[in-house]
Amino acid sequence: MIHRLQLQGIINESFRSCHFPFPCFSHYLPTTTRVSFSSFSCGKVTEMEQVKVDSDMLVGDPVLLQTKIDAIRLAGPNNLQVIADFDATLTKFWVNGARGHSSHGLLQQGNPDFDAKRQALYDYYHPLEFSPDIEIEEKTKLMLEWWGKTHALLVEGGLTYESIKQSVANGNIAFREGVSELFEFLEERDIPVLIFSAGLADIIEEVLRQKLHRTFNNLRIVSNRMVFDDDGNLVSFKGKLIHSLNKNEHALDMAAPVDEQFGDTDAPTNDNGSVKERTNVLLLGDHLGDLGMSKGVNYENRISVGFLNHNIENSLSCYQEAFDVVFLNDAPMWGVTNLVSQMCSS
Ligand SMILES: [Mg+2]
Repeated sequence: MIHRLQLQGIINESFRSCHFPFPCFSHYLPTTTRVSFSSFSCGKVTEMEQVKVDSDMLVGDPVLLQTKIDAIRLAGPNNLQVIADFDATLTKFWVNGARGHSSHGLLQQGNPDFDAKRQALYDYYHPLEFSPDIEIEEKTKLMLEWWGKTHALLVEGGLTYESIKQSVANGNIAFREGVSELFEFLEERDIPVLIFSAGLADIIEEVLRQKLHRTFNNLRIVSNRMVFDDDGNLVSFKGKLIHSLNKNEHALDMAAPVDEQFGDTDAPTNDNGSVKERTNVLLLGDHLGDLGMSKGVNYENRISVGFLNHNIENSLSCYQEAFDVVFLNDAPMWGVTNLVSQMCSS
């Protein structure tokens, strides 16, 4: 079932908010509806935050957005593709009152020593990933190092596919409400969805399997792919390593379809050509860096949607400048589905 929100109404509502200059956030919020603000320490979430505004959907330039929607609608669904980040974009940021797991973070290797070793790598490299004092070239080397060491520990520590299943079952991870309906809407119109992640493809597939309880022919996952032996033991990784800083380089070359044979890396990928010919893009992300996911696509029109999940007070102006649409407060996916239905209406 598709929830058909009145987009124009939402845009108008957001437009009122946008008359206020950013980044003066206090002007933006209705004074009586501000619920709570978290305390943050260097981007680290210490408590759940919630911001009450007229709408959880904000549009910086409603006229530009409408122009893009009209252009995409005129070109037709055959020219549209969706490129989506996975963690905290398709999945919720908060799950059961706690920070939701990422596809990487939920993994329990079944070997506490190796779980601790991977955690130690996280503790060392994660601050470097966001350090403003490290040049991008050096940082890219560090990310390659981090991902490489982590993958090596997964092989060395004896990861099995069974432990992935168990980790997903035990993980604190959930899709945003309406994700399944969005995929279904897109599948019915043969619009491909590229899920682009620096995490682990096999885990993402297992999350899709366990949480959505169905498959979609239009989904493809571009992420790090594991290779298991006949007994379900991880033996290696396949393809180029995708880390947080090179998510823009491998989009179509690494893509493999997700279907009933999840994890079948020999499955044909001959849809890449048709995806490359789709010149209109709906991009979904939760990080400014996710905007780079559409690099390599020679698009004519791109509508970018950003989910601003935390550090809202400091980040809202940047997100509003960078994304055509911003969703706050761990919003469900209904607003995106509505956008897509506008793009596909005849
Ligand atoms: Mg993300």
